[in-house]
Amino acid sequence: IIDEGQPDHSVVTTCAYCGVGCSFEAEMKGDKLVRMTPWKGGDANHGHSCVKGRFAFGYATHKDRLREPMIRDSIDLPWRAVSWEEAIQFTADRIRDIQTRHGRDSVGGITSSRCTNEETYLVQKLVRAAFGNNNTDTCARVCHSPTGYGLKTTLGESAGTQTFDSVMKSDVIVVIGANPTDAHPVFASRLRKRLRQGASLIVADPRHIDLLKTPHMGEGIHLPLRPGTNVALINAMAHVVVSEGLEDEDFVSRRCDPEAYRQWREFILLEKNSPEHMETITGVPADSIRQAARLYGEAGNGAIYYGLGVTEHSQGSTMVIGIANLAMATGNIGREGVGVNPLRGQNNVQGSCDMGSFPHELPGYQHVGVPEVRARFSAAWGVDIDPEPGLRIPNMFDAAIDGSFKALYVQGEDIAQSDPNTQHVEQALTSLECLIVQDIFLNETAKFAHVLLPGSTFLEKNGTFTNAERRINRVRKVMAPVAGKEDWEVTQDLANALGYPMHYSHPSEIMDEIAQLAPTFTGVSYDKLERLGSIQWPCNEAHPDGTPTMHEDSFPIGLGRFGLTEFVETEERTNRRFPLLLTTGRILSQYNVGAQTRRTDNQVWHDEDVLELHPHDAEERGISAGDWVGITSRAGDTVLRARISERMQPGVIYTTFHHPGSGANVITTDNSDWATNCPEYKVTAVQVEKVTEP
Ligand code: SF4
Repeated sequence: IIDEGQPDHSVVTTCAYCGVGCSFEAEMKGDKLVRMTPWKGGDANHGHSCVKGRFAFGYATHKDRLREPMIRDSIDLPWRAVSWEEAIQFTADRIRDIQTRHGRDSVGGITSSRCTNEETYLVQKLVRAAFGNNNTDTCARVCHSPTGYGLKTTLGESAGTQTFDSVMKSDVIVVIGANPTDAHPVFASRLRKRLRQGASLIVADPRHIDLLKTPHMGEGIHLPLRPGTNVALINAMAHVVVSEGLEDEDFVSRRCDPEAYRQWREFILLEKNSPEHMETITGVPADSIRQAARLYGEAGNGAIYYGLGVTEHSQGSTMVIGIANLAMATGNIGREGVGVNPLRGQNNVQGSCDMGSFPHELPGYQHVGVPEVRARFSAAWGVDIDPEPGLRIPNMFDAAIDGSFKALYVQGEDIAQSDPNTQHVEQALTSLECLIVQDIFLNETAKFAHVLLPGSTFLEKNGTFTNAERRINRVRKVMAPVAGKEDWEVTQDLANALGYPMHYSHPSEIMDEIAQLAPTFTGVSYDKLERLGSIQWPCNEAHPDGTPTMHEDSFPIGLGRFGLTEFVETEERTNRRFPLLLTTGRILSQYNVGAQTRRTDNQVWHDEDVLELHPHDAEERGISAGDWVGITSRAGDTVLRARISERMQPGVIYTTFHHPGSGANVITTDNSDWATNCPEYKVTAVQVEKVTEP
């Protein structure tokens, strides 16, 4: 893909990796991409980038790209390459036949946080209008679904409150369960700049992350909590804030529901939430908890940033509510420099949620159970909308094994590698009568598929991504799709073959429809995006150019709602057989299951997944750096190389999940968040022992 010549033109587009959403100039020579140059006009990145966005784009023309549709009658037969027409008709016939034999609700679809807003919108519309049910879910289920639930419950909107630039006005920055220098590098640079200007940092993380090594920053506090004890920690911090009079009484009295606040205050002051009591649960000294709570509670501007180390727990939603409670109690909402900010992992995870991918919500987070909402969508789409929420991804797997769920359309997600408890997922996938995979590569999930529909990369399509600060950025096509179709065209063809008419000629028309139906998008159009460069939703009559800071004068639900956050210990506990806790994360040079980064032709991208463990745990087991080690959990076992690291605390080990062979998700269990079923990837009780070879 990299032509050595000089570019003759460029096209501005958006990075397809993390939720920072950096803008790039794709510099072209004819139809060849010469290089990706970070664009100075990008509102999210201001001309900066990280190695992935700048250099890891070679996967787009990798030899492994799927270039033609393929079908097979069963998964033990070889693939047969067919025309688009035959593949689409085969798929439509299979779906209708399954629905005739097993009922309307026996089929469903999964949208992708890697695809554009417009593509995601069309997949959930296909499920609701052509399949006739609400069995649509998104890969956000396994990452930030607790953010959606927790922030909507407390603040009234399922999104972060700030712009990335807002951090430059923060005095105290709290980072919980996130590792921005590896996972959100361009935002991390801005955060570090602010720390070097003297802002203070509080990190709550089982590992000693690199951010803590920022030179010349203000006060730095590390709260190395045990995995699974986030809620205990946030309750203890809130206990200090309330008991020491650090609340913002004016904010609470003007902006928050008084009865919910009274109940929360009474609960949080209970002795069981004190730092001394929570020290025994979290492993964090009570003095450190007090110091951190005072620092945040007394800050002029205190901002909280969090990642999957918050959400991927059995109490993920409770923790998001706890974070919002603390921000409201201290008045750290509704202006620059403060707020509650989820750091989204994938490029369009915010957008996939905004677009109605969840089984209970239509686009714009409108519940399917509300008759007026359904009436509006029914009028626009010309079909009745099912009032019952559909199946979530884990429910789809269970129903497939039970025999009531028979066909699944998966766009741009490798569920066989990325979802927890691989054995369970594979059992579900082999139980399906028809699995349709739309992807750019033959991924792990495709091994169980009956239909393969080639996907298009971000370089081959028009559309929009929405980043972690609610910023809608344009994605512009710089080359023709290798298989001849953009993803949205494939979904549209399938809808038409199923007898539900779709006739969009460009993604801008899809966005126009979204703007008619989602109240937070009513002012969004491609024309406005051209004029403004990007738009942060809500964008409507009240905020025609978008909304950089949310909740300035009021919350969408009127008054902010404190929620009770009782700490409940996870079922995933250590014992003599499984004495260590495993937690997982991402490294800078890789991205999720590595489908793209592993296919970029540069040794930088060839890191292997390793197991990090503390010297004490290694010595106890006779393990040296580089040894092969077997890791066993209640769900399964795998083998990795060991890395000895002081960044870990004794009793806690860490790995990544970028390579299919590493088996990280063979070990993770079925435990999930009580409210959203987000898997508890961050807590798995394991044993580790030295082995001779993998
Ligand atoms: Fe892409 Fe994220 Fe890196 Fe920006 S920080 S270039 S969006 S991976």
